[in-house]
Amino acid sequence: MSTVVVVGSGQAGLQAAASLRDKGFDGRVVLIGDEPGMPYQRPPLSKAYLDGSAGEDRLFLRPDVFFERSEIELVNGRVARLDRDNRQVELSDGTKYPYDHVILATGARNRPLPVPGAELGGVYGLRTRADADVLRGALEAANDVVVIGGGFIGLEFASHAGKPVTVVEVQDRLLARVATHEISAHFAKAHESAGTILLLGQGVVAMHGTDGQVESVELTDGRRIPADLVLVGVGVIPETALAEASGLDVQNGIVVDDLLHTSDPAVSAIGDCANFPSLHARCATRLESVQNAVDQGRFVAAGIAGEPAAYDSVPWFWTDQLGNKLQIAGIGTGYDTTEVFGDPAEGKFSVLSFLDGVLVAVESVNRPVDHMSARRLLATGRPTTLEELRASGFNLKEHLKSLTAA
Ligand SMILES: Cc1cc2nc3c(=O)[nH]c(=O)nc-3n(C[C@H](O)[C@H](O)[C@H](O)COP(=O)(O)OP(=O)(O)OC[C@H]3O[C@@H](n4cnc5c(N)ncnc54)[C@H](O)[C@@H]3O)c2cc1C
Repeated sequence: MSTVVVVGSGQAGLQAAASLRDKGFDGRVVLIGDEPGMPYQRPPLSKAYLDGSAGEDRLFLRPDVFFERSEIELVNGRVARLDRDNRQVELSDGTKYPYDHVILATGARNRPLPVPGAELGGVYGLRTRADADVLRGALEAANDVVVIGGGFIGLEFASHAGKPVTVVEVQDRLLARVATHEISAHFAKAHESAGTILLLGQGVVAMHGTDGQVESVELTDGRRIPADLVLVGVGVIPETALAEASGLDVQNGIVVDDLLHTSDPAVSAIGDCANFPSLHARCATRLESVQNAVDQGRFVAAGIAGEPAAYDSVPWFWTDQLGNKLQIAGIGTGYDTTEVFGDPAEGKFSVLSFLDGVLVAVESVNRPVDHMSARRLLATGRPTTLEELRASGFNLKEHLKSLTAA
């Protein structure tokens, strides 16, 4: 009988453990996570769980009976060492688990903001359920809420804070790292209409306070804006310490091949912590999304259960803000042309991104049919060209239909 140890019981780790059983793996499965409680999902933490419209039951990825039924040993503890010579992982309390294969699903942690005052009380990050619980309480008492970072997390927080928020973003547009200009403009408008103050093209140089409590945020232009609650949402850093200490290749994440194996074939890495060769990004990349975590979890489990194949899932993402459900299929960074289909003024449209005349990504706002069609089109592996889509009036569903009929 062989043993698979999964390090990290978040979205990717839990999926890998569950999929091992789905695929018929009958060896020992040990799932080790250092967060308290049952494995949970993070998306509601900045959305419905934050504003109280969803309770903790919406967070859990599986009911507790699942683990017993599936014979998955769920261990609460921190893995302190990956001993590849002796094929065992060691917890910080000294407990050792031998393995035949280990899956690193250690996720990521919030990137700190390296400015004076970042350690003041009232300055928070949002990654864990514990963070969300603290923020829910803090929001009730807050008057001047400032978000640093106009990315997904900061903007979702602003949408669900239930209070007026000021968003400070160093780039000259929102969502600059992940979306096209058209999408940035739409979300800027939506936030401003909801009363959010957007300070774009502004960095933060310091936070000030008295008695250890934040009172203001100082911007690069010298302004100080009042703040008694600051959310820092400036991205994440992959959690790679274990891999690094055990001599595995680490560069912006744990480097894996298309089978999601590290340089040691007995060790895989998946989810936010893994840097993998992405067909759809056209380069090695690290993605932070539920789709990526779930698909890589499934995929690595299939490989261990005897069905190895090159990982090629179409990446997709979503965010919910102020009644705008944005869904992104593909990786749009590096596009050279965009076409808008639908009407942004009505809050329902899609932005199609092309590189060298080939479709690389589709961002859909409140147009789920476009999103699903885009995922299916990108999954065919057949390049979809600007000319073809122009001929179909940029109607993705119709174009997909014409392909399947042909
Ligand atoms: C607030 C928030 C909202 C989000 N919303 C969306 C969304 O709307 N859509 C979307 O697609 N994605 C969203 N994401 C991103 C998505 O949740 C992540 O991409 C996903 O959780 C990654 O899963 P993972 O298992 O790789 O990492 P994680 O979920 O971070 O799990 C890793 C786990 O490993 C544990 N761990 C690390 N090191 C060790 C160790 N040495 N020993 C034991 N345990 C360890 C960590 O504590 C953690 O519990 C959101 C993320 C956040 C924080």
